[in-house]
Amino acid sequence: MQSIYYDRARDVDHAIALARQPGTMFIGGGTNLLDLYKSGIERPLRLVDVSRLALDGIEELPDGGLRIGATVSNTIAANHPLVRERYRVLSEALLSGASAQLRNMATVGGNLLQRTRCYYFTDPTLGACNKREPGSGCAAKDGYNRIHAILGASEECIATNPSDMSVALCALDAIVRLKGEHGERQVPIGQFHRLPGDHPELDTDIRPGELITAVDLPPPLPGRSHYLKVRDRASYAFALVSVATVLDVQRGAVRELRLVLGGVAHKPWRAMEAEKELRGNAFDELTIERTAHAAVAGARPYVHNAFKVELAQHAIVRALRTAGGLA
Ligand code: SF4
Repeated sequence: MQSIYYDRARDVDHAIALARQPGTMFIGGGTNLLDLYKSGIERPLRLVDVSRLALDGIEELPDGGLRIGATVSNTIAANHPLVRERYRVLSEALLSGASAQLRNMATVGGNLLQRTRCYYFTDPTLGACNKREPGSGCAAKDGYNRIHAILGASEECIATNPSDMSVALCALDAIVRLKGEHGERQVPIGQFHRLPGDHPELDTDIRPGELITAVDLPPPLPGRSHYLKVRDRASYAFALVSVATVLDVQRGAVRELRLVLGGVAHKPWRAMEAEKELRGNAFDELTIERTAHAAVAGARPYVHNAFKVELAQHAIVRALRTAGGLA
């Protein structure tokens, strides 16, 4: 293990100034970064500790939305009364992630930047990985790919994004707020995470030296929301498939629907075509089935993960029935 410099930032501007040094990474809770550092996958020269910055608040916005600071822990965010009351899908997603101990340490900003749990990425002894070593190959494509993507993958990488929180944020149309040496910018969550394409080493749209400062939630949508996670064991496992939905049914017809899948792609997968399929139609079993089929249209499974196509459809049906009060 190589030695590293450690700095604790006084404020956001100090953190950004420190990050100008090459090889710098920010550290919040460290629940993912330290694991990757210990196994030699992340090799920072300098860590800038941002865990004590004044980014730990949750505040209502003038438009009725909510701002969640980047260093708010996953536990605090999940259990905040306004999150539980107005953004149930987010609270459920956060509580379904990791263990209680990890949720106490993990931050909202860090959760957005979680790296894939592809076996070949996290264990360099298993084989080549374009995400870890660009241009080296992808051992997962012809290897054991049970947990890998069925949508949006590329020849270079078939990994999935592991964050439950990001799937729920996508259903809520959240905005990621960033600050770097060239100022502040806001990125819609749907554009924050990337598909792998030719550059699987890049997980997100974040630029060198930029710090996530907060996540803004728009005013809550009418209707009910729900997060359903399907995993190999009931506690502490990443999603094989997950579904975040916000559903508004009025007089038996669907007025609004958000449908986002987790565990199936390199980013939260917003099922836009499926949303259109359900919107405006009667909320009944037939429409729900059609929506579930539309959501996985174009899926391209690999040898060991074909089961995810059917699993995703069942999960969508169950999530929509629950959110719509049919279950
Ligand atoms: Fe690496 Fe992506 Fe292939 Fe996994 S799927 S081995 S992360 S390139």
